Amino acid sequence: MKIKNLFPKKSLTYSFEFFPPKTPESYQKLLSTIAQLAELKPDFMTCTYGAGGGSRDKTLEIVEHIQKQHHIPGVAHLTCVCHTKDEIKNILEEMKRHGIENILALRGDPPKDQPNWTPGPENFQYSSELCAFIRRHFGDHFGIAVAGFPEGHVLCRDRELDAKYLKTKMDSGADFVITQLFFDNQDYASYVSRLRRLGVTARVIPGILPITDYQGLIKFCNMCGATVTDGVKKIFEPIQADKEKVHEEGIQFAIRQCQELLKMGAPGFHFYCLNKYEPVTTILKEVRKS
Ligand SMILES: Cc1cc2nc3c(=O)[nH]c(=O)nc-3n(C[C@H](O)[C@H](O)[C@H](O)COP(=O)(O)OP(=O)(O)OC[C@H]3O[C@@H](n4cnc5c(N)ncnc54)[C@H](O)[C@@H]3O)c2cc1C
Repeated sequence: MKIKNLFPKKSLTYSFEFFPPKTPESYQKLLSTIAQLAELKPDFMTCTYGAGGGSRDKTLEIVEHIQKQHHIPGVAHLTCVCHTKDEIKNILEEMKRHGIENILALRGDPPKDQPNWTPGPENFQYSSELCAFIRRHFGDHFGIAVAGFPEGHVLCRDRELDAKYLKTKMDSGADFVITQLFFDNQDYASYVSRLRRLGVTARVIPGILPITDYQGLIKFCNMCGATVTDGVKKIFEPIQADKEKVHEEGIQFAIRQCQELLKMGAPGFHFYCLNKYEPVTTILKEVRKS
C-alpha cells in the first residue's frame, strides 16, 4: 500500500518513526514497542537509515517486520550520501524484494568517520536527484516521501530558496513531505504557505518531537538547526533537572502544539518516537479526541 493512496480516504494520518537499535536487547525492546504502538492503529510507520548504510539491514528488517507482523504500511528511509548510484540501485532492488513500497528519500549527512566526504559523478548531490533516480529506474513501484524544513535547512537559512529546493524534490517525483521538528507552529504555517505559492500541492505532514530530555533537545536542535523557542525555554529550563516534570510538561506541550496545528489545517502528525511507547501514546490518544 502506497502512503499517497491513503490520502484521498483520510484527511488526517498519524505515523511513528523509529531508528535501528544498536544491541540485540534494544532490538527486542523495539519490537515490543512497535507491537504496543501498532495497537493505536497508525497509518504508517517509518524506520531511519544510517548515513553510509551502517544500519541498512536493520532498516529493511524493521520495515519488513512492521508490514508482515502488524499489517501496517512501512516506510524505509534511505540516504544517498556516501553511496554510489549503483549501490543505491541495488539497495532499492533489495527493498523491492523485501516488499517495501514506500521510501523516505534523503540526502543525509556525511557520517562522523567521513566528515569531508563530497559527492563525485558516481554519487548523488541532493535528494531531488535520488527521487528522480527512483522514478527513472522503478517507475511507480515506490511511493516517495521527502524531508521538509519549516525554518529552512541548517545549510540553507534562506527559507524561500530552501522551499524552492523542496519544490525540485516534488517535481522530481516525490509524493509528500514530512517536516523536521519545530516548536513554533507559525513556522509550519508560513512554510506551507510558501510551498503553496510555489505550486506545491502535496501534503506537508508536521514532524512532532515530544520533549523528554531538555539538554538532549538543545544539542539536537543545535545540530539540525531547529529553534528552541522562548516559549520552550521558559517552560523547560527551570525544570530540566526533574525528569518526571519534563516528561509531564513535554506531553502537555506536544498536545497543545498538535491541537493548534489541527486548527491550522495540518493533515495529521508524524511522531519522532525515539523508540519509546510513551509519551507518544498519551499524546496521540488525547489529540485524537480533538
Ligand atoms: C523527516 C526526516 C527524516 C530524516 N531521516 C533521516 C535518516 O533516516 N537518516 C539520516 O541520516 N538523516 C535523516 N534525516 C536528516 C537529513 O538527512 C538531513 O537533514 C540532511 O542534512 C538533509 O537531507 P535532505 O534529504 O533534506 O537533503 P536535500 O534535500 O538534498 O538538501 C540538502 C541541502 O542542500 C540544499 N539543496 C537542495 N537542493 C539543492 C540544489 N538543487 N542546489 C543547491 N542546494 C540544494 C538544501 O537547501 C539543503 O541545505 C531526516 C530528516 C527529516 C526531516
